[in-house]
Order: sequence, then C-alpha cells, then structure tokens
Amino acid sequence: MGSDHRGKQKILASLPSVDELLKAREGHKWLSDHPRRIVVESIREIIELTRKEIISGRSTKVDMDGIVCAIEGRIAERSSFSLRPVINATGIVIHTNLGRSGLSEKALANVLAVSRGYSNLEYDIAAGARGKRHVHTTGLLRELTGAEDAFIVNNNAAAVLLCLRSLAFGREVVVSRSELVEIGGSFRLPDVMAAGGAILREVGTTNKTHLHDYERVLGPETAVILKVHRSNFRITGFTEEVGIEGLVELGAKMQIPIMYDLGSGCILDLKPFGISGEPTVREIVAAGADVVTFSGDKLLGGPQGGVIVGKSQLIEKIRKDPLARAVRVDKMTIAAFEAVLMEYMDPDAAIGSLPTLGLLLQKPEEIRRKAARIASSLRKLPADASIAVVSDVSMAGGGSLPETPFHTFAVAIRPGHISVNELEQRLRKGRPSVIGRIKNDALLLDARTVRPGEIRALVSAAAAALAARG
Ligand SMILES: *Cc1c(COP(=O)(O)O)cnc(C)c1O
Repeated sequence: MGSDHRGKQKILASLPSVDELLKAREGHKWLSDHPRRIVVESIREIIELTRKEIISGRSTKVDMDGIVCAIEGRIAERSSFSLRPVINATGIVIHTNLGRSGLSEKALANVLAVSRGYSNLEYDIAAGARGKRHVHTTGLLRELTGAEDAFIVNNNAAAVLLCLRSLAFGREVVVSRSELVEIGGSFRLPDVMAAGGAILREVGTTNKTHLHDYERVLGPETAVILKVHRSNFRITGFTEEVGIEGLVELGAKMQIPIMYDLGSGCILDLKPFGISGEPTVREIVAAGADVVTFSGDKLLGGPQGGVIVGKSQLIEKIRKDPLARAVRVDKMTIAAFEAVLMEYMDPDAAIGSLPTLGLLLQKPEEIRRKAARIASSLRKLPADASIAVVSDVSMAGGGSLPETPFHTFAVAIRPGHISVNELEQRLRKGRPSVIGRIKNDALLLDARTVRPGEIRALVSAAAAALAARG
C-alpha cells in the first residue's frame, strides 16, 4: 500500500506543469493559433484528468504523446463554433432544425459584399438623404407576386403578429375552426392572435365551415377575416371550406380586409413538376386577398424572413406600427432576399441555383446515382457492415406540401460490430455531423438532401464511425 502510494507520487511528480507545456514547442504553436485562455484551460483540464487517472490506478505512467494529443483535441473542441454546418441525410429538404433553406451562391456573395462594410441600407443615394430599408426588396416582390406593396420582417410568425396588431388590435379576427393551426409548437394561431391584441372569433367546425358561418359573425367589431394555409396537415373526408374567392367577395361586400397566412409562400408554380397543394403567392394576390404573409426560408428558398404583400394602404399601416421596428430585418437578410428574389426573375435558372428548389425537384434517377456513389465508397471501407441502396419516401418538411410524398433513395447501413443506434450516434457526433434516420434496424442516409460536394466528407465521417470500436 505504502509503496503503491509512493509509486503514484513519483508518477504524479513527473506530470508536466501548465507552464512547462506552454513553453514547449507545441505550446508555442497552440498559442500562435488560438486564444491564450482556451489553450491554458485545455492544458489544465487534461493535466487534471491525467492526474485523476494516475491516482485511481487506471494509468501507470505519464504518456507525453497522449497528453499532447488530448490537449490538441480539447483545444480544437473548445475553439470550434457551436453553430456549424452539418450534413443533412434525413431527406427532409425544408428541415427547420437543420436551418431550412441553404442560400444560393449569388445570395451568399451579396451578403458578403453588403455586410463587410457600409451600404445604402437606409440611404437614398439619388436624393442624398435618409432612405428606407424596405425599398430594396419592394420592387421585386411587386413584380413577382403582382401585389401593390410589400414589407419584409424577421419571420412569418412576426409577419402574422405584426399584421394582426396593426390591423386588428382590440378588435375581432374571424377564423375558421379548421384553420386554427399549430406550427412547430411555438406558433399557435390563438396565441399569436392574443399576443397581437386581437380577439379571436372562431367560426364553423373542425371539418366544415360555410360562407354563412362567416356572414353570421361579421359586424362593426370585425377587423379582419383571416385564412390560414393548412401547411402541415390536411383535413379529408366530409369537409368544406370557403375558398379565397368566396372570402374576397364577402370581404368586399362588408368592407373587411382579407388576410391570408400562406405559410410557405411559393413563387414558382410547381404543378408542372407534378407538385400540387401549394398555391402561388401570385394566385392568392390575384384572387383579391388584401394582405398575404409567408416565410422566406420555406419553399421560397431564401433567408429567414416573413414577407408581407398586399394593398398599399394596408401595408403602409403595417409599416407604421411601432412593432415593425422590433421585428425589422438586418442588412444581411435584405442582401440575401434581394439576390434570391432576383433569381426568380428567371424561373428556369432559379431551379438550378436555389438549393431548396433544386433538392425538391431532383429526378429520382439523380438521387439514385448519388446513393449508389455513397454506397460504393462505403463498401470499399474495411468495415463489417452491410450496405444497400433502398428506395424510400421523404417529405418536403417545414410545414410544406404535407401530402406530397417525394420518392427518394437512401443508403441503408447495418453495422456488424456495433448497434445501429450506436452508429447513428457516432455519425451525429462526428465531424462533420451526419444526420440520418433509423428505419427497420438500419441507418438510412437519404441521398436527396446530400449535395454532391458533401459525399466525400460523408464517407470519411462514416469511415470513422464504422471503424471506431465500441
Ligand atoms: C411556417 C408557418 C408559419 C411560421 O413561419 P416562420 O417563418 O417559421 O415564422 C406561420 N404560418 C404558417 C401557416 C406556416 O406554415
């Protein structure tokens, strides 16, 4: 016991100090590449860890190479960003948890160009006077949607909140019971309504709402008739709803504005591609809706944002609400929006350049080829795993096209020496993170959402995950 204790003391005494490590060749290199406090704290942590291993008897000598290696790992971990790119192998294109829409090259370039220094964000260059930040996107939105005026805010939830507040504060907003939606937990229409100070006036039933249900409740207290797109669900069977045309007619007769929360906000008609169920913003504007709101980063494929388009008089009122300032967008968002909207001026090119559209409209054959490429690289790895290309179905996600199944191909991995749950976890925690899904005891990596430029990184992440022992 005594000699064991003395032995441990001897090993502990040979542990390097923080100072010694800082002065060593490696220490100099770490300090030149990383902030001092990160280096010092990482060294301290690893020395402390090693000390505990020696005291517990798990470690019986000081392994300098091992310590240096562990410190390097810790420094790398501590100096990497929390928010970082991941590989989306879920097949869900508009994945809210994974950042929804990637930006086009032109949008990214414009964000860089505008954000590096000063810009004419709120400066009217022609007049040499103060300008307004919304002017940069208004013209394009008018052209693309046919609306009289437009305004962009932080996201669609903010757009709905702002519209309700500015148009219906303290007054009634009429909504069909079949449209009182919840989108992703934190957006529940009745709650947003309350937050905007509007009084919810429900009409109809869950499955059927008639025009006379609306007619019956309209009165001097009614500020707005609101229609909400059922983004993430469908009601089927014995159903009836009043379409936008019917509501517009009623609104015109009663002098009540019609607001439509479209959710996704499709600019391009996707019907020629076999995708139905999402009306275009232009169709809804043309039908006569007074105010239309939609997200910037769903089907539109732009940055996070909430677009409000509609009649000038109402948009002007919305813009003047004090809340508008609180939900205004930054120059980076405007730079990205303007570039993305510009892409839509050439619809064919937009499909090629906007990642969200491109990923949704991929031909199954294209996806199958990507899956086959991934599978053949994985089969070359010295790992005991069964690898197969399987056909599957994925969803658009992000509260878009809930009933449209997208045929896809995935690589199914059944690892030999570890469980499929373990493999899923290793890939998720690896660098880069690869997010897949488990189905029928296999890990599925859906090739739809894996970009060709990511395949190499995906394969090396999979190699590491399959090689490491449990
Ligand atoms: C997604 C969605 C929202 C919320 O939009 P965000 O841009 O995520 O704030 C609101 N309404 C509908 C109908 C939606 O689909």
